[in-house]
Order: sequence, then structure tokens, then C-alpha cells
Amino acid sequence: MNILKLDEFEIDIQPTEEKIKELKAEKVLLQLPDGLRRKSHKIIKELERYGVDITLWGGTCYGACDLPLDIGEADLLVHIGHSEIPNIYVGYPVVYLEGRSRRWTDPPKKLFKRLKGKVALYASIQHMDHLKKMKDILEDEGFETVVEKGDQRIKYPGQVLGCNYSTQVPDADTHLYIGTGRFHPLGLSMSLKKEVFVFNPVTGEFTSTENKMDRLLRKRFAAINVSEEADKVGVILSQKKGQRRDGVLDALKDAKNDIIIAEFDEIEPDLVDDFQWDCAVNTACPRITLDDSGNYSTRILTPIEFLISKKVKKWEEWEMDEIH
Ligand code: SF4
Repeated sequence: MNILKLDEFEIDIQPTEEKIKELKAEKVLLQLPDGLRRKSHKIIKELERYGVDITLWGGTCYGACDLPLDIGEADLLVHIGHSEIPNIYVGYPVVYLEGRSRRWTDPPKKLFKRLKGKVALYASIQHMDHLKKMKDILEDEGFETVVEKGDQRIKYPGQVLGCNYSTQVPDADTHLYIGTGRFHPLGLSMSLKKEVFVFNPVTGEFTSTENKMDRLLRKRFAAINVSEEADKVGVILSQKKGQRRDGVLDALKDAKNDIIIAEFDEIEPDLVDDFQWDCAVNTACPRITLDDSGNYSTRILTPIEFLISKKVKKWEEWEMDEIH
């Protein structure tokens, strides 16, 4: 192990050395997520010890779904911050250096009072070690815990992505997410259609998604309602390796045969709104629809929401849009 410390995060960069030796790599392209771009000098200095030339990737990095389409002259991509999405075909060598948060605050007593029965545990990649820690704490307190394996898009048991909650345990009595922010627990809550408790291991805060979930669901149903008469419909198809879903296009065309498909490298309000569609069906990152659709003048629906608006599916069939 060769641990690089960046604020509260630790990253084992040793796998880079092994891959460089294996490939006899000379040139490396380095991709950093938003929060770590400002640390690029420090990270490059560490990786240069392995005797390679390093160029930074200047484009977006929303997740491991968002790797560059190609890496040009480089022999290897080093992607920092996220775990591999195992079912994505990349087409060039990649090393994924996952970040792990080390800041921990013990849970408050009220957490134990709110949990009951079988407790399912979830975390994002940065808090996977915290998930194990919480599991031990809860079992010491006498709780039954469960951490489920996900589908082929998920690397670790209990791990969630903003677009994949296949580690969910529908029959658990309580769902507990360990991590910061509301992005993942809210998606999990929408996927389960149940309340999710949230423990923030950095601050020790303990909250729930209940009210937020109801608000979001009402918004989604309103968007479907006003799209029933939509005539000019466009479909957003992403070029990103882990966001492209050609597989859903046939069902959309069956529901309305004159829909237009548009490929995007970057999905931005200006680029979408410029088409002046009555409604857009987003097949790329589901969180664009769930979290960001308010930034667009165009109404944005998920594929299943579009099928509901065209009466191909029933309202009761609404589900969180996920990528598998
Ligand atoms: S598709 Fe969206 S939610 Fe899924 S990993 Fe990519 S950025 Fe995250």
C-alpha cells in the first residue's frame, strides 16, 4: 500500500505502480473528480515518482460512468475517486484509485432508538469502510444487519450509485445509509419508495429522507401529467461510456414513432432547450431528470415516465430510473 492523504480522504495509489510496470507505460492520463481537481499538483507529484509523464484530463468526471471516450497518446488512464463500474466496456487500460473517508464521529443514542428489526446498510464508495464499522457497532448493540450484493454495475456489497440501488433489501425493517449529502439516500428512498435513515459519519448527524421523498414524487407525477399532450419529443442519448442506454430506445419509439434522438457529449440546459421540444426523454444519467430538471425550460422525463404519459404503462408502475 502507498497511501496518499487528501484532507479526510485516503487513496492507495500502489495499484498505479503495478499497472505501469505491467504495461511498461510511459504516458498516463489522470482523471480527477470535481472535489480533487484543486489537488492536482500534489497528486501528480506523487504519481510522477513512478517515472511516467502525466497529463491531466480537463473534461468532466461525474463518476466512473464518465471516462474519456479515448485517451489519445496515453498508455493508461488513472481515474481517482470512484470504484470501477464492472459492466462498462472501456477499451483501454484503466486504474481506479478509490477514495476512502477517514473522518468518523460516533453515532448518537437516538439512532439506536429509531432503528428496528432487520437493518439494511448502504454507503457510497467513499464510506465503504464506515459501513463495515457501523455494521459492527449495530451488531454489538444487538441489531440484525444485512448488506446485500448488487448487480453487475456495482462493485461492493452495500454500495450505491446515484443511478443504481440494486443492493437494496426490500424486506428489511429499516434502511440506513452511511455517508454525507442527500444525493444517494434520496435516490435510494425513491427506489425503495420507503423512508431511509441517514447517518453522516463526518458530522455525527442523523436524519431521514421521508418528507423530501414525498415532495420529489409529487414533482415527478406533475411532470408526467403535463407531458401527456407533448407532440415534439426528443430523446437524450449520452455518448458517455457508462450512461449510454441504446437498449431503451425501441420501447420509446413504439410509444411514439416520430420521436427524435439526439446524441450528447455533454448535457446542458442551453443545448437541450435550444431544440424547443415539448418534452425530452432523458436516457443518460437519471439524476439529470430527478435533481436538475428544474434548470431546463424543456420538460424532462425518464423513459418510464414517458411511457406512462403515453399510457403504455400505468401510473402504479412508476419506478426510480436506474441503470443496470
Ligand atoms: S450515471 Fe449519474 S448517478 Fe450514475 S454513476 Fe454516472 S453520474 Fe453517477
